[in-house]
Amino acid sequence: MLKKHPKIRKDDKVIVLAGKERGKIGTVLKVDPDKGRVIVEKVNMVKRHAKPSAKTAKGGIIEREAPLNMSNVMIVCNKCAEHTRIGKRILEDGSKIRVCKKCGEPMDE
Ligand SMILES: [Zn+2]
Repeated sequence: MLKKHPKIRKDDKVIVLAGKERGKIGTVLKVDPDKGRVIVEKVNMVKRHAKPSAKTAKGGIIEREAPLNMSNVMIVCNKCAEHTRIGKRILEDGSKIRVCKKCGEPMDE
């Protein structure tokens, strides 16, 4: 059983903490919680050979994002612009929201 990672979601802004892409910031395009991986826009680009298809008329080499390990990225807070851990807060109505552990502001609008 994989331990559940603290909730990085699509459209979150994250910073890469390890590997050759360290320090890059991008927007999460896709989360794969089962594999513990995320795809971050314009980060960890790899060249792939593509067969001709509807998308790539001629085929050839295309560049696309390769998944990153979730443990190598950290969410960046929109409010304080720091990379941070995600905290949880339970509202009066019982719903849970994600908050920045540094500034305490909600991460979700
Ligand atoms: Zn913050």
